[in-house]
Amino acid sequence: MKLILLGPPGAGKGTQAQQLAKKRGLVQLSTGEMLRAAVKAGTEIGLKAKALMDKGELVSDDVVVGIIAERIQQPDCKSGFILDGFPRTLQQAAALDKMLEAKGERMDAVIELKVDYNRLVERIVGRYACAKCGEGYHDRFKRPKVRGVCDVCGSTEFTRRADDNAETVTTRMIAYYRETSPLIGYYFCRGNLHAVDGMAPIEEVGAAIEGIVDSLA
Ligand code: ADP
Ligand code: ADP
Ligand code: ZN
Repeated sequence: MKLILLGPPGAGKGTQAQQLAKKRGLVQLSTGEMLRAAVKAGTEIGLKAKALMDKGELVSDDVVVGIIAERIQQPDCKSGFILDGFPRTLQQAAALDKMLEAKGERMDAVIELKVDYNRLVERIVGRYACAKCGEGYHDRFKRPKVRGVCDVCGSTEFTRRADDNAETVTTRMIAYYRETSPLIGYYFCRGNLHAVDGMAPIEEVGAAIEGIVDSLA
């Protein structure tokens, strides 16, 4: 099964991809996570990407397409993957199609998460994650069961993203509107688009996505 989760920053793509990957034995491929790892490791890609990410602008198509092209060749992707945060431009979508077509494959479904603007901002500024295992949390919407302790791995250290602040949100939303939202039409025309109400609680959104995945199987 090969899926794309599509939606603006804060829509819940990462949260849902993480859960679904675990439940269905799929690999979660988040270009945002990969780029943050490159920034942390101080690689050439990371150095180039950092300034753009801090401003809330998109990293170049060549860079992210290169990362994904290499990653989906890995043996663990054979049984399927969930793309979260890629593609983000029409050029990236076309490059992905080409990569898969060369192997006689295609994406099974594109699932769009719909969320109101104000809620997105609220989700972004309250977002944090476990520093050890990466489990995602939110100040209001998803707190650890025991305060200050990660539900998954028991770590007491958490991190917040440098770009999750009210200042970069506007830039990121404009990038979404200009560059990424045309993909909704692109996949609609390929008969591949499914929309989910991303305003619902995390579990309900998850159930709706699983319903779509089951209907495809
Ligand atoms: P994205 O990957 O689309 O940018 P995330 O999955 O990181 O979004 O979600 C953004 C924040 O909102 C996180 O802190 C997450 O815990 C929270 N969140 C995700 N989905 C929901 C939901 N359905 N209801 C409430 N909060 C949510
Ligand atoms: P969010 O879903 O909250 O926008 P991500 O973790 O997906 O966050 O992305 C963080 C940043 O990484 C983006 O603002 C952008 O600078 C960069 N990025 C991630 N994926 C891509 C992509 N496919 N194309 C270009 N830039 C990307
Ligand atoms: Zn953890």
